[in-house]
Amino acid sequence: MLPMPGRCWLCQIPLMLYQHGICSLCYRHLPQRPISCPRCGLPAGQSHIECGRCLLRPPPWHTLVYVSNYQPPLSPLVLRFKFNRITALSVMLARLILLSWLHARRTRQLPRPDLILAVPLHQRRAWQRGFNQTDMLARKLSHWIGCEYRPAGLVRVRPSRIQHQLTARARRKNLHDAFRVEIALRGRHIALIDDVVTTGSTVDEISRLLMAEGAASIQVWCLCRTL
Ligand SMILES: [Zn+2]
Ligand SMILES: [Zn+2]
Repeated sequence: MLPMPGRCWLCQIPLMLYQHGICSLCYRHLPQRPISCPRCGLPAGQSHIECGRCLLRPPPWHTLVYVSNYQPPLSPLVLRFKFNRITALSVMLARLILLSWLHARRTRQLPRPDLILAVPLHQRRAWQRGFNQTDMLARKLSHWIGCEYRPAGLVRVRPSRIQHQLTARARRKNLHDAFRVEIALRGRHIALIDDVVTTGSTVDEISRLLMAEGAASIQVWCLCRTL
């Protein structure tokens, strides 16, 4: 599935703007986001007010922006990106997040963040893998939006077990005290970048920490939200 340079990642046709990585037809045919809650991103009756779950137990972040559900054609590309440092793929995927955020910004009047942080890997896993995929996305997004990105602002202080093998409760326990903030956050409007948000326990834990450090608001931006 590695396309020739300058071809669409999904259908392989030559691109007019090679840096887009995906043709306009494939972009239009990405799975439509269902009507979903602006805060948690889960399917809901309306997209302009928070769902009942969020009213009852608000998540510690303020809004969640995602490109699509975790399903083909995006899911195999996301998986591939997670384990291979492919710059062209990171540009294409970061651009999809940008387009989703621009859309959400128009429809939900979201503020522009003034700081981007990426969900970190523990040093050992980053070293084994050779890169952190969320860092690659964050670098592109901060460059395009023109806001600050602090790669070392958020660190994972202890390795956690692989999340997807755990129950929701075990995930929360696994993540408790797993992160540390290394920069001043008081009054900052933050965009937190992740690749896939599944139960939300990772971004939940980090958002709690960022808010406790004085962040003014948190937007979670991700490629896929498991619906
Ligand atoms: Zn295409
Ligand atoms: Zn909600």
